[in-house]
Amino acid sequence: MSDVFKGSFTQQEPIPEEGIAAALEVMRHGRLHRYNLAPGEAGEVALLEEEFAAFTGARYALAVASGGYALSTALRALGVGPGDRVLSNAFTLAPVPGAIAAVGARPVFVGVTERLTIDLADLEAKAGMADVLLLSHMRGHIADMDRLMAICEAAGVTVVEDCAHTMGAAWRGVPSGRHGRVGCYSTQTYKHMNAGEGGLLVTDDDEVMARAVILSGSYMLYDRHRAAPPEEVFARVKYDTPNISGRMDNLRAAILRPQLRRLPEQCAAWTARYRTVEEGLRGTPGLTVIERAAKESFVGSSIQVLLLDWADAAIEEVVARCKARGVELKWFGGPEPVGFTSRYDSWRYAASDPMPETDRILRGILDMRLPLTFSLADCAQIARIIRAEVGAVYQNG
Ligand SMILES: *Cc1c(COP(=O)(O)O)cnc(C)c1O
Repeated sequence: MSDVFKGSFTQQEPIPEEGIAAALEVMRHGRLHRYNLAPGEAGEVALLEEEFAAFTGARYALAVASGGYALSTALRALGVGPGDRVLSNAFTLAPVPGAIAAVGARPVFVGVTERLTIDLADLEAKAGMADVLLLSHMRGHIADMDRLMAICEAAGVTVVEDCAHTMGAAWRGVPSGRHGRVGCYSTQTYKHMNAGEGGLLVTDDDEVMARAVILSGSYMLYDRHRAAPPEEVFARVKYDTPNISGRMDNLRAAILRPQLRRLPEQCAAWTARYRTVEEGLRGTPGLTVIERAAKESFVGSSIQVLLLDWADAAIEEVVARCKARGVELKWFGGPEPVGFTSRYDSWRYAASDPMPETDRILRGILDMRLPLTFSLADCAQIARIIRAEVGAVYQNG
């Protein structure tokens, strides 16, 4: 087997030329701070917010310093505070329990199903334990949002959506981030738009957005926002809302605006790569492909498969053999959080009860990024390599 993949799993596409030109212009005029505007100028950040609100169909949008900042700001704007409990996914990444910890609250972890979505039966059972669900659409897998919202509405639970992996995705045609009260997105390099860092928050709720704007560090310059509620809403909340600076700057927004314009094509390109890998892996003995719901329009910027009920050593062998052939798989079953993987029980700041059903799934998850620098032929080659190595280990085991 001499077939070795040579591509880089962490290499993104370049910033579009239009974004580079816009960034140069911001640097040439020097007004990088979002509120530093020439007379009559809207500023790149305010324009990005207006365009992102239109893209998602939200009334309001706020651009901030990171996706994690957007999450903690959403929780704070909803009044979550020290000692409160917040429902959240057991299958997620560190910034999600981190955002809960940032406001002094504690997560109540909800299990994961074999489809890698939040376990709605477990959610229903735990819904009485908190007022807010911080729902992570982890790795782009979207739960049945109609059922989820019905469960949360019946229990009086407010939903904040973590759309770090679902920017541009939808459930039943409704954009991800528009089912709950607040949607949060990341524009960090490994997400669907790349500004290095950054985040966005959308909502239709007047007071939540007014608080979020002030929280983000608006220095009472909120009238320079174009996708925010009217002055009287700010007047109601401005003396009770602290300034916890986490603004986005005009340079990042300048890079993002052209990316937003081409986001739908980018999403389609990711999903074509996903489908190519999925097709190549389907039917591999011992390997479970995640079946996607017909109502889910997902963005295939990464792919996950399950080696359910395999011995740890056998999974480690698959990972090692694939790595030797240039294919980087991340395993969610490892005892230590490594790179971007983590487990709900990794965090000593967030106590958790054992979740055996969830542990069984997590132990089987293999995860792989699909950057747009990969061609469809690359994706087919990657699938062939994984199929061969899973097959080799499965036969020996
Ligand atoms: C990346 C990510 C975030 C936000 O990340 P930032 O690095 O703070 O922008 C939130 N949730 C998940 C699941 C993520 O992967």
